[in-house]
Amino acid sequence: MLIKKILFNLQPSFRRTICLRFFCNKDIRNIGILAHIDAGKTTTTERMLFYSGKIHSPGEVHRGNTVTDCLTQERERGITICSSAVSFSWSGNRINLLDTPGHIDFTMEVEQSLHAVDGVIIVLDAAAGVEAQTLTVWAQANKHSLPRIVFVNKMDRTDSDFEKCIADLRIKLGVKPLSLQIHKNDDNKTLTIYDVITLQKYRWNSETLGRDYVTENLVAGDDMFLKLQHRRNELIDELSGLDDELADFVIKHESFENITNKMIYDALRRTTLNNKTVPVILGSAYKNIGIQKLMDAVIQYLPAPHERNQIYDCFGNDFVGKVFKIIHDKHRGPLTLVRVYRGNMKKGQKVTLSRGGQEILNKIFEPLADEYREIDTVQAGNIGICSGLKNTTTGDLLIESTSSLKNAQKRLKNIYKNEEFEKKDEIEENIINEIFSTEPQVPVAVYFCSIEPPNLSTQSAMELALKQLQREDPSLTVRHDEVTGQTVLGGMGELHMEIIKSRILTEYKIDVDLGPLQIAYKETIDASAKETYFVEKDIAGIKQNVTITLELIKGCHDLFSIDKSPENVANVNMLRPRMLQIIRKGALSALERGPRVGGQVVDTQIKLHNIVVGRGTADSFIMAAAVQCIQKILNTIGTRLLEPVMEIQIVSPAENISQILADLSRRRGIINEIVPKSNNKVITAKVPLAELFGYSTSLRTISSGTAMMTMQPCGFSSMNTNDEIVAIRRTQGFE
Ligand code: GDP
Ligand code: MG
Repeated sequence: MLIKKILFNLQPSFRRTICLRFFCNKDIRNIGILAHIDAGKTTTTERMLFYSGKIHSPGEVHRGNTVTDCLTQERERGITICSSAVSFSWSGNRINLLDTPGHIDFTMEVEQSLHAVDGVIIVLDAAAGVEAQTLTVWAQANKHSLPRIVFVNKMDRTDSDFEKCIADLRIKLGVKPLSLQIHKNDDNKTLTIYDVITLQKYRWNSETLGRDYVTENLVAGDDMFLKLQHRRNELIDELSGLDDELADFVIKHESFENITNKMIYDALRRTTLNNKTVPVILGSAYKNIGIQKLMDAVIQYLPAPHERNQIYDCFGNDFVGKVFKIIHDKHRGPLTLVRVYRGNMKKGQKVTLSRGGQEILNKIFEPLADEYREIDTVQAGNIGICSGLKNTTTGDLLIESTSSLKNAQKRLKNIYKNEEFEKKDEIEENIINEIFSTEPQVPVAVYFCSIEPPNLSTQSAMELALKQLQREDPSLTVRHDEVTGQTVLGGMGELHMEIIKSRILTEYKIDVDLGPLQIAYKETIDASAKETYFVEKDIAGIKQNVTITLELIKGCHDLFSIDKSPENVANVNMLRPRMLQIIRKGALSALERGPRVGGQVVDTQIKLHNIVVGRGTADSFIMAAAVQCIQKILNTIGTRLLEPVMEIQIVSPAENISQILADLSRRRGIINEIVPKSNNKVITAKVPLAELFGYSTSLRTISSGTAMMTMQPCGFSSMNTNDEIVAIRRTQGFE
């Protein structure tokens, strides 16, 4: 909110820059396409590519030949896993579109692509209305304040219900939907669309796969004409309640008569950009109906790059772009997807990473799912793909030079100095963090399982494959378990892990085995403890010995520190930096596996008090001593378990609420709030992941299918002793 307020206030000082840019990128739209799984995002995207002339015949999800579902797994399963970027032209504009996965295991992907877009299309299945994942993606779009339009797809289905979709938007999402079209299914079962603003009728030609459509003006006095006219007046009425400019005109003229289509378009655009309303249009992607009007609506109502992201003005005309995704291409190696905010990104250019380091942009491509066209320059506002970047990761800010970054920071600070805000420092920090933060918000893995290659000779190939997949997907974690000697994957769910396995098979030809999926518990200590550990051994005739004193302290500020108190300073001052590094590495690695269930020990700091090393003692021996010392402390004081907790949101009719709450409390849920939304109630609760197996089925039974839920990980919490015992038995395979 604060950021928005500042941006609003800042705009006049940047008017000139904005006007300059206006001519460069007013014709670009960077758009996300979001929906519940199976609503028709991929089919809709395919049709947009077809009508824009990018492909010569549209693919079908069930035939496995769509452009955006380019991974074999996606084509086999008919779902979108990694979001793909495609771009195409439409009536003189360029649309960059990111098709995103709908399954909960891949919310990380959606989150990343939302950094790169300025607006979104939300697709609804006309027969299902607002579904569980629609709630999730809606909340994500809210987080980024993204203007959106709704496309009600599958209107060809006999069970489609447009009015219910509109009601769902109003009731379940609490927004003001404005339907710009109405429909009629003719006797021969073809769908005709009527335009509420122009009072026209559109009919698509099925023989040309919907490439052509006929526009007809309705005859005044006709039944449908009167109905549309009535709808148009309703639309103006609602719109003037949201838009002052239109309201002024209506008041002045005391009628809707003189209101032109342009006035309605302009008011719709203003209110959509301010997130006051959501325009709704309809069609059937599969039957090739209505898609051209959807593309028109994208241009008409969603923002161009210059209408958002004013914060990057502090870079002037210098190049600045943000990496929002990395994909691995078999032939080209890692490909980095960059949203360019200011300046131009040029082939061969040397760029600086805001967190340090430089890279050369060997080649630049224009995105078309799994095919790329090489280009020389990507202009501000656009999305480009670079090859040859070695150290860049998702979330990195690419800039022209270090001095350009410094100038930007200086400019930003000067601007805030001139503004009079109550909490100046906090605002400054928020904004600077927003621009300069380089860490993507990666969800912490809540499940893990072991992964094994079919034989030892493929171990290193598997590790390489995992490394590359991890760069693409930061929500995948890979670690080596010292005790079991296994490689352990961490991730967001079963589908996530299965997809990784299947990608390693198809892309790297390694048939790995996955162990059973387990909940990723963490461990923590209750109190601090100190220990001196002595170890001595003869190795190859050389006596090796170490005496080390380490302390574990509850807290998370400084993972590894050294006791520099006056009485100890003489001991530690003698230590060489290399020795310190070895101790640090050993001690921290011991925290990777706690004594109770092998979970990572968190919220725990290590302090080195003293170490005495015998002459000729090997580094590996010192490291092992540090590991054993920490393990000894952990075994002596013991640890407590922390379990992953999910935040769930349930939207349900009021009559089922008490049953749902009773069930949640059986699942150890803690209710945060229950708020009314029209006839429904929205429950927000935190529930341990371990209690959520099969929850969606059980919710469906309790509510006879009327309630919906969405969930996302929200950290870890401690457990009582009884629950801990159950959890430990579960990890040992007894329950
Ligand atoms: P996504 O999961 O959102 O990408 O959805 P898909 O595009 O993969 O579509 C899911 C299924 O719905 C596929 O079998 C499509 O053929 C089908 N489908 C998509 N659009 C329509 C439509 O307009 N009408 C009907 N009847 N089916 C559709
Ligand atoms: Mg899809």
